[in-house]
Amino acid sequence: MTQEELFKVLVAHCKEYGFIFPSSEIYDGLAAVYDYGQMGVELKNNIKRYWWEAMTRLNENVVGIDSCVFMHPKVWVASGHVAAFNDPLIDNKDSKKRYRADVLIEDYLAKLEEKINKEVEKGRKKFAEGFDEEQFRSTNPNVLRIKSKYDEIHSRFVNASETNNLKELKDIIIDAEIVCPISGTKNWTDVRQFNLMFSTPISNTGEDDDRIYLRPETAQGIFVDYLNVQKTGRMKIPFGIAQIGKAFRNEIVARQFIFRMREFEQMEMEFFCRPGTEMEWFEKWKEQRMKWHVNLGMGEENYRFHDHEKLAHYANAAADIEFKFPFGFKELEGIHSRTDFDLGNHAKLSGKKIQYFDNETGTSYVPYCVETSIGVDRMFLAVLSNSYKVEELEGGESRVVLSIPAPLAPVKLAILPLVKKDGLPQLAQKIVDEVKFDFAYQYDEKDSIGKRYRRQDAIGTPFCVTIDHESLTDNCVTLRDRDTMSQERVPIDKLREIVDAKVNMRNLLKNL
Ligand code: ATP
Repeated sequence: MTQEELFKVLVAHCKEYGFIFPSSEIYDGLAAVYDYGQMGVELKNNIKRYWWEAMTRLNENVVGIDSCVFMHPKVWVASGHVAAFNDPLIDNKDSKKRYRADVLIEDYLAKLEEKINKEVEKGRKKFAEGFDEEQFRSTNPNVLRIKSKYDEIHSRFVNASETNNLKELKDIIIDAEIVCPISGTKNWTDVRQFNLMFSTPISNTGEDDDRIYLRPETAQGIFVDYLNVQKTGRMKIPFGIAQIGKAFRNEIVARQFIFRMREFEQMEMEFFCRPGTEMEWFEKWKEQRMKWHVNLGMGEENYRFHDHEKLAHYANAAADIEFKFPFGFKELEGIHSRTDFDLGNHAKLSGKKIQYFDNETGTSYVPYCVETSIGVDRMFLAVLSNSYKVEELEGGESRVVLSIPAPLAPVKLAILPLVKKDGLPQLAQKIVDEVKFDFAYQYDEKDSIGKRYRRQDAIGTPFCVTIDHESLTDNCVTLRDRDTMSQERVPIDKLREIVDAKVNMRNLLKNL
């Protein structure tokens, strides 16, 4: 299966098993807006819990808040979003499709990089043991030709982005002969700026312009509550404020399922520190956040850091954690050193003194801030795309299984009486009554046991327990493991403990 095919299959699987539905589907849906179904909401909640507890319980100096989507319009002036939260857009006149000019160029550069890597692999095969990669990269004529093209476009792109030169962005697209993936033509419009914030009228801001914005990030809620939290929580620097909540962006290109949505959810943490110490904290949080990801066991090789060359208007350092999605390595989380940009600007525009008196140094200052920001939905997609597997079984059969990390799985345990009679459902019910306080479970008595196992595999249930006639006398049940499909006979009174050892979030958190 190609990566693209896998992506299509995944989208269909999400719908079929109640993970994700297109929003308002009976009216043909709404572009880039999705609902989470009965399985999806459980997985999503578990992801949020893993993040929330890692942040606020494992770090004594990190507390959480829940601020509103609606905020005073001046917030977005202070944050720079009104002036600068734009994407450069370009349309193809033949396909009538709209693209982000910067993304078209980035994709082009990624293709050149891929070509270089292919040349290197060819060289590796050809020269086998005697292969010297460094020498090959610096002398092979094909590699040098592609590299020189890459360097030229890349440096023009960085310049154009830094100076916001829209004409140059268009020139790069023309000079690099980038075509529209749909029409295959180079018939492009000029590049224009497009502000990504949604706005809506509100009646009582007291301002001339009565528009307010739907927040495009949750972070600003933290900044405007900084004083309240610091004072009421008697927080001492360094400390962090965490928040999970909805954010809204009028994305130009929204064609990648839940990777890029117009309404999505973020998990953000702003860590306030003494000016001059921010790089230390930036490195520390980079390391901690990577650890959080790798701890899930989805393969260390599927993550990488990408340091930003073009820094956002508020940052003095920034890195992404990228994940290998079915469509390649893409941003999953951003870690930014935001300096005193946000608190400083809010102080200026609101006229309030936002300063911290540091007992240790005897000085007052506007704290510096390091942010970690991850999309819940992107994390969801990372987990699902990594977990989806089609496995060949003996006898020419196959099964679709989601090997979701057990503590995140929507259902932990399926309880399956072998038949619907002879007292087996009653015994199964007793087990339900025992485990329902601890685990999300499903009770299923329909169809053959094989079919029931397949249904549970398809939603990623780590354990199935089968109650048979012998269970009535020996008080044991058959416990089946999703990943190995191995089965073992276990006493009913040990069931909770055995399942708990694998599915409890505690085990995940303990390794951090
Ligand atoms: P991108 O470059 O992919 O648009 P970004 O750099 O604008 O992302 P940030 O502003 O750093 O993203 O937002 C932090 C995180 O929020 C991202 O790493 C991503 O996980 C998530 N996120 C941002 N925009 C979206 C969106 N439209 N849909 C889903 N998640 C998003």
